[in-house]
Amino acid sequence: MKEFDYICIGGGSGGIASANRAAKHGKNVALIEGGPIGGTCVNVGCVPKKAMWHGAQVAETLSHYAPDYGFELTVNKFSWKTLVANREAYIERVHASYDKVLGNNGITRIQGHAKFINDHTIEVNGEQYTSQHITIAVGGHPTLPDIPGAEHGIDSDGFFALNEQPKSVAVVGAGYIAVELAGMLHALGTDTHLLIRHHAPLRHFDSIIHSKLVEFINEDGPTLHDHTNVEKVEKLDSGELKITLKEGKSLTVETLIWAIGRTPSTAKLGLENTGIKTDDKGYIKVDKYQTTTIQGVYALGDVTGQAELTPVAVKAGRLLSERLFNDRTHAYMDYSQIPTVVFSHPPIGTVGLSEDEAKSEFGEDNIKVYTSTFAAMFSAVTRNRQSTHMKLVCAGKEEKVVGLHGIGFGMDEILQGFAVAMKMGATKADFDACVAIHPTSAEEFVTMT
Ligand code: FAD
Ligand code: NDP
Repeated sequence: MKEFDYICIGGGSGGIASANRAAKHGKNVALIEGGPIGGTCVNVGCVPKKAMWHGAQVAETLSHYAPDYGFELTVNKFSWKTLVANREAYIERVHASYDKVLGNNGITRIQGHAKFINDHTIEVNGEQYTSQHITIAVGGHPTLPDIPGAEHGIDSDGFFALNEQPKSVAVVGAGYIAVELAGMLHALGTDTHLLIRHHAPLRHFDSIIHSKLVEFINEDGPTLHDHTNVEKVEKLDSGELKITLKEGKSLTVETLIWAIGRTPSTAKLGLENTGIKTDDKGYIKVDKYQTTTIQGVYALGDVTGQAELTPVAVKAGRLLSERLFNDRTHAYMDYSQIPTVVFSHPPIGTVGLSEDEAKSEFGEDNIKVYTSTFAAMFSAVTRNRQSTHMKLVCAGKEEKVVGLHGIGFGMDEILQGFAVAMKMGATKADFDACVAIHPTSAEEFVTMT
């Protein structure tokens, strides 16, 4: 049996980050990965998604804005294949750079699926490995519904495998992935339908976000079918898919994409051979130091079900290695005030509490809300004026900024700096004391009255 100082199972965002940090501290580290290096984010998540979103932004710029900036353009065609080929070439370069860093750090790479034999022994391709410190960072995979014909649909992994642009698509779901995929497909010219169960997508976000998102979608977005539930899916002789809704209607499309959430990849990990406990959805239970119910075994990233975002997995992985291998014995991941962006059309940025959450945490009388609505200048000089909506949620007499939300041009890039200020405990007065940068959209956050 081979022994290492540290073993990470899963070569995605969290596993790679933790393995590299441990190796930097001189440890003999093994990284076990069953698929391509980089995990969800690099191969079927953030990276290919952002490439497609940028493609969609180019399409919108050409059609909505370029003419009023004086460009007389004729677009001959959009080539999905070219975009996909360039996206995949970029991912290959990311793989190469990951390989290089892992190699330079002297990390042993083990290719294959890991399975626990007991609390501290793992088997991969018939070989056994052990360590006093093992991290599980195996992420998750898309969830499919249990309804007749569900198998005719694809999921987000299937979306990234599409070599041809579908003519018509139904996206079912109301979270990040549904909103992002539906938005980019629509912008790139696919006849897109977004099917949601309730009144709005992202309904757990602040009200300004989901209410304005619905307005944007209705103005210039995919066709929104709210309050719908899919009953069954049938493949027609034409190859198209007939989606029957419980509400009595039906819809026929070329491609159906399920985007109804993700499931932790714990089923084949052999956890039944260990004392590692999961919750009823399969997420591994951890304490604030990422330790599972077994000492010396840790879990982080999507497999723990805490904010399922790449930088969260990365930070948790690095902090764990700092704690284990660099004497930072009290280092742990703080899961509060995590900034997040939805790459919708236009993008959404949000950090901290929604207005409703703040009211229930601090009491309605202790909350003050500031809002701003304006047309972002990039669009305002054209006929396609697009509004931006922003909200600050402040708590207490000192008006500490506890929530910041926006939907509009540039929100994806605006958010990070404000998240730093909030992490430092900034108040509305601190925001106001900062000189605005003009003319930008970001300046609205420091000039609200
Ligand atoms: P993963 O990155 O999923 O890595 C887990 C790895 O473990 C995988 O490579 C898998 O092959 C491997 N594995 C699984 N089981 C085993 C086993 N038994 N043995 C060996 N290896 C195993 N987050 C953002 O912050 N921004 C975004 O814009 C964003 N966009 C996204 C878009 C989509 C479509 C999706 C699906 C996700 C997106 N995310 C985004 C979320 C982000 O991808 C995840 O939060 C992140 O990848 C989680 O990292 P992880 O290390 O926990 O797991
Ligand atoms: P989410 O959990 O975000 O959203 C899925 C939503 O789909 C649910 O909230 C629910 O909304 C709806 N839903 C659930 N079951 C069904 C069903 N049977 N039929 C119809 N609708 C259903 O999952 P995603 O898959 O969108 O994304 C997973 C995670 O990945 C995200 O939470 C996020 O952490 C991460 N991610 C991050 C991105 C980013 O940072 N930009 C981009 C993409 C993913 P409702 O209850 O309203 O119906």
